[in-house]
Amino acid sequence: MQGNNGNITFIRDGVRLDGRRVDELRPIKIEVGVLSRADGSCYMEMGDNKVVAAVYGPREVHPRHLQEVSRAIVRYRYNMASFSVEERRRPGPDRRSYELSKVSREALEPVILTSYFPRSVIDIFVEVLQADAGTRTAGINAASVALADAGIPMKGLITSCAAGKVDGQVVLDPMKEEDNFGQADLPIAITPWGDITLIQMDGDLSRDEFRQAVELARIGCGKIYEIQRKALLDRYCQMESAAQEA
Ligand code: UDP
Repeated sequence: MQGNNGNITFIRDGVRLDGRRVDELRPIKIEVGVLSRADGSCYMEMGDNKVVAAVYGPREVHPRHLQEVSRAIVRYRYNMASFSVEERRRPGPDRRSYELSKVSREALEPVILTSYFPRSVIDIFVEVLQADAGTRTAGINAASVALADAGIPMKGLITSCAAGKVDGQVVLDPMKEEDNFGQADLPIAITPWGDITLIQMDGDLSRDEFRQAVELARIGCGKIYEIQRKALLDRYCQMESAAQEA
């Protein structure tokens, strides 16, 4: 769709390029416990994003000088597969993946009861298999479920979702075209009681639009939270019935 100045028209009659309304999330799929060698794991799709999260620990810290005497340390590695994007990515870490690893760890750390496990480490690995904007949010959502699957004591699940601005309108959960060519992108992560543990912003938003975007992203997180909870409950109901049958 082309607008009059050659730019893309993102919203026509209230409908976005992929058929969603401005306040709609992309379809979400969550599978818990997909990796047998990890202590906890989760596969997640948010629209065309496909990510897998693996959690190991609490376990001994290597190298040892990283140990904290009063708590576990948390490490988070975000990695994008070279085949996950349109233009092949050079494998290995880069500035972006270091930044996303840091902010994602900081988004999750406040709910993890690290003081229960002094001198240990909780390792979280997030692999992006297919990217379509919002991979950090999908990664955080998957990691949060994988932490719960690993039995790591937490105050609650963290949920993450972005809002953006296209054609002058605030929209929920931007996909790639909206993220790359839109006017703003604002990912957040929140606790179940509404504390924000991550907020980032690219682009321009007025004060009102900013409030609107945070509110919309909060509503999106509320919906994702229910899906995360249900995926965990389903997994444990399955495990319980398998144990009873055995
Ligand atoms: N992207 C890409 N190549 C890269 C980095 C990003 O094609 O090296 C695409 C990918 O689809 C990603 C999107 O741009 O999901 C938006 O990237 P951003 O850095 O905003 O992070 P994200 O929205 O995925 O958290």
